[in-house]
Amino acid sequence: MPLDPNPLHSTRCCVVGGGPAGMMLGLLLARAGVAVTVLEKHSDFLRDFRGDTVHPSTLQILQELGLLQKFKQLPQRRESLLSGLIAGREQPVVDFRGLRPFDYLALVPQWDFLNLLADAGRRYPSFDLRMRHTATGLMRDGGRVAGVRVESPDGAYELRADLVVACDGRHSTIRAAAGLKGTDYGAPMDVLWFRMPRSAHDPQGTFGIANHGHLMVLLNRNEYWQTAFVVPKGSDAELRAQPIDRLRDAVVRLAPFLSDRRDSIESWDAISTLAVQVDRLDRWHTPGLLLIGDAAHAMSPIGGVGINLAIQDAVAAANALATPLREGRRIDEAQLAAVQRRRELPVRVVQRVQLAIQNRVISRALEADGRPPRIPWLLRLLLSLRVVRNRPARLFGYGIRQEHVRTPELAP
Ligand SMILES: Cc1cc2nc3c(=O)[nH]c(=O)nc-3n(C[C@H](O)[C@H](O)[C@H](O)COP(=O)(O)OP(=O)(O)OC[C@H]3O[C@@H](n4cnc5c(N)ncnc54)[C@H](O)[C@@H]3O)c2cc1C
Repeated sequence: MPLDPNPLHSTRCCVVGGGPAGMMLGLLLARAGVAVTVLEKHSDFLRDFRGDTVHPSTLQILQELGLLQKFKQLPQRRESLLSGLIAGREQPVVDFRGLRPFDYLALVPQWDFLNLLADAGRRYPSFDLRMRHTATGLMRDGGRVAGVRVESPDGAYELRADLVVACDGRHSTIRAAAGLKGTDYGAPMDVLWFRMPRSAHDPQGTFGIANHGHLMVLLNRNEYWQTAFVVPKGSDAELRAQPIDRLRDAVVRLAPFLSDRRDSIESWDAISTLAVQVDRLDRWHTPGLLLIGDAAHAMSPIGGVGINLAIQDAVAAANALATPLREGRRIDEAQLAAVQRRRELPVRVVQRVQLAIQNRVISRALEADGRPPRIPWLLRLLLSLRVVRNRPARLFGYGIRQEHVRTPELAP
């Protein structure tokens, strides 16, 4: 099908969603000289409930793109050792020390990270990022996806593309429009997400606390704690029917150092509920369409690895598709299937570990009887060894089948 010559209505590659997967793919394709349009439904990247954890695999990609120095200038914390406070006892669990080339996890507000990628993309003339443009459905030509329908502040339009890549996250519109099926692995929990002020005397790191039938993760964002309070799946309506004091009590019971700030949790309105979901599509593609990141495989927050896997997917997709896209060759389904083949194993392995932790650790920690969870003595003994604590750090930090930037850079 001939492309509409109006660049507003046609592109080589349309990327739906400006999250980590979409922004990285848009940047890599534009850098390789491909005309790429990224559609993002929000007007900016300023959303509080995005994960912040930039793992070594992503640091490596930033280094390969020459963006690491700029990244290091963003406000961030580095964590080399992640601990749990389990029934009052501190237990180091994930240890990056000794890993090479990066021996830490960077905690960076995701909006800063996405702005960095957007600014890097704008250096290339073929990068077209459209904020407040929402993909509402797919256009088809014969059996092939031929573009997307878009709603924007200036009205609705159709954007034709030789290839559409859906990076629109866990509630993907494009996945639904394509009718792709997968497996929902379930999750025993959802997350209440809110901020609490920090004080100079608070503990320093980022850590999880499990006790009294509750589980909470405190992410140190310097001026405040980004708090993730884990609750049983589907309990949101019941919780919100209770006075806010019930939540304040539970938070302070887990972290007594927050008791002088309990009223900073003003009301239920200040609290977002984030539904946790773990699933994976059987097929990540149809003719003319590829899905990557959470759109293909929704990740649990465990290990803070979803952003990083989404970025690895984007790098793999760009490595496979940038050259044929730039040369104007038609992308056939076998090329899209190759991207899935490359990325599916790393995703499967991480999801399997996440499901084991969800089912064996988190479900038990949330049991209503409030008994403090216990770590078996053998596990505690093993975790006293750095080499054992390095294993989850290596899996979550670098993953298996680590991707590297293989796409060329055309002069900006
Ligand atoms: C409670 C919770 C906490 C988490 N914490 C972490 C963490 O700390 N670290 C981590 O690595 N992972 C975390 N994750 C997982 C992580 O959020 C995802 O795995 C990751 O964001 C996936 O990136 P993505 O680019 O595929 O999708 P997303 O980040 O979901 O990005 C999708 C983008 O598409 C846009 N979009 C959606 N629909 C449309 C449309 N129709 N048209 C245009 N744009 C659209 C959205 O606005 C969004 O910007 C967490 C998940 C949950 C549920």
